[in-house]
Amino acid sequence: MKITEHIANAKGNTLFSLEVLPPQKGKTIDDLLRVIEPLMEFKPPFIDVTYHREEIIYKKRADGFVEEVPLRRRPGTVGICAALRAKFNIDAVPHLVCGGFTPEETEDALFTLYYLGITNVMLLQGDADKNAKSAHAKLSAYKYASDLVAQVADMNRGKFLHEETENEMKTNFCIGVAAYPEKHFESPNLATDLKWLKHKVDCGADYIVTQMFFDNKKYFAFEEKCREMGISIPIIPGIKPIASKAQLSSLAKIFHIDIPEELADAVEKCKDDKAVKQLGIEWAIQQSKELKAANVPCLHYYTMSRSEATIEIAKAVF
Ligand code: FAD
Repeated sequence: MKITEHIANAKGNTLFSLEVLPPQKGKTIDDLLRVIEPLMEFKPPFIDVTYHREEIIYKKRADGFVEEVPLRRRPGTVGICAALRAKFNIDAVPHLVCGGFTPEETEDALFTLYYLGITNVMLLQGDADKNAKSAHAKLSAYKYASDLVAQVADMNRGKFLHEETENEMKTNFCIGVAAYPEKHFESPNLATDLKWLKHKVDCGADYIVTQMFFDNKKYFAFEEKCREMGISIPIIPGIKPIASKAQLSSLAKIFHIDIPEELADAVEKCKDDKAVKQLGIEWAIQQSKELKAANVPCLHYYTMSRSEATIEIAKAVF
C-alpha cells in the first residue's frame, strides 16, 4: 500500500515508522531482522531502507603502488526490502539516490521494484562521494532529487526513457522526498531551500520525511512555512534519540543540525553514555508526545539499526 494510503487510513492518528540501514558488507541480514522483530509490536505500516552509494577507496598493493577500488559498504537495499516484505508482511521503502547512476540504470532499478510489488520509493540526491574527483568515480546523470522525482512521475504516467509514446503499462510509485527543518547545508538560506522543496513537490512528490531535529519549534515553524507556500502533502517528522556524548558534535557535523542548549547541557552533565542514552530516550519521548498531540501523520524513527531506544520510545508514545 502507498504511504499516503496508510496515512489516509489512519484517519488522523499518528503512525509509527522506522528507518534501517542495510548490514555492512560481510554481515548477515539476521542481526537486522532481530532488531526489527520487537518493533513489529508497534505495528509500523512501513520501514525505510537506506541506500549507500559506491565509494572509491585507496588500497596499497603488494608492489607498493596505491590502487583506487570501488567499494559499496552497505549493499543490498532492494534485497532487504524484499526480505522485510516477505518476513513481516510490511511495506518496505527503498531509498534511491542520484549518486553514481544513469537514468537508464535508474529506470532498470525501478522496473525491478515495480515487479517486486514495491509501491513506495524515497528519492534523494544521496550523500556525496568523498572521492568524486577520482577517475574511477561513477558520474551522476542527475544533480538533484527533483530529477529523479520527475523520472518516476513520468514512469507513473507510462512514459519511459527513449520512447515517444506513453505506454499502457504504468508504474504506480508513491514518491517520498527529504526536507530539512533547519535547511539543507548547501542552501544559502531556508527560503531558497523551501523554493527547491516546492519544486520537488511540483515534480511529483507525494510525501516528505524530515531530517532529524531536536527542537519541535523548528519543525512547527518549517511546516507552517511549507503550508504558506502551498506545499500540502504530508510532512513526516524524523526523530533520533541522542545516544552518546560524542554525538553532540558528530550529529551536528554530519547532519548539520542544532542540538538545543538545554539538551546539550544535560548531555554534558551525564556521567556516562548509559546516562546519555536514557536522557536521549526521555527527550525523544517528549518530542514525540508533543508532535503526536499536534497530529503529525507519522513519527519516523532513525534507528541506526538498533532497537532498544526506539522500543522504549514507542512504548511510551504509542
Ligand atoms: P535535493 O532535494 O536534491 O537538494 C539538495 C540541495 O540542492 C538543497 O540545498 C536544495 O535546496 C538544492 N536544490 C535542489 N534542487 C535544486 C535546483 N534545481 N537548483 C539549485 N539547487 C537545488 N543519503 C543517502 O546517500 N542515502 C540515503 O538513503 C539517504 N536517506 C535520507 C533520508 C532522509 C529522510 C534525509 C533527510 C536524508 C537522507 N540522505 C540519504 C541524505 C541526503 O541524500 C543528503 O542530505 C543530500 O545532501 C540531499 O538530498 P536531497 O534529496 O534532500 O537533495
